[in-house]
Amino acid sequence: MSKENKFCQSCGMPMSKDPQGGGTNADDSKNLKYCSYCYQNGAFTFDGTVKEFQEFCRQEMIEGGHNRFMAWLFTRGMNRLERWKNK
Ligand SMILES: [Zn+2]
Repeated sequence: MSKENKFCQSCGMPMSKDPQGGGTNADDSKNLKYCSYCYQNGAFTFDGTVKEFQEFCRQEMIEGGHNRFMAWLFTRGMNRLERWKNK
């Protein structure tokens, strides 16, 4: 697995933590750049700015039982990921 594919390039989650092992393309093949939470059937599941997405993920993590610090730590580098880099 190459370095780029170690983390989802949309949310930053380690791909090894993705129960589906990656997103899905429109033709049902695996997409290894984005995780199954971010990318399904060839489209992103969340449409919006990186700031909105950061906030969305932070809330999801807090609701999932992570503390606020971990949620902040996890989402703060998101704007450097490939999906958001040029926005
Ligand atoms: Zn993701």
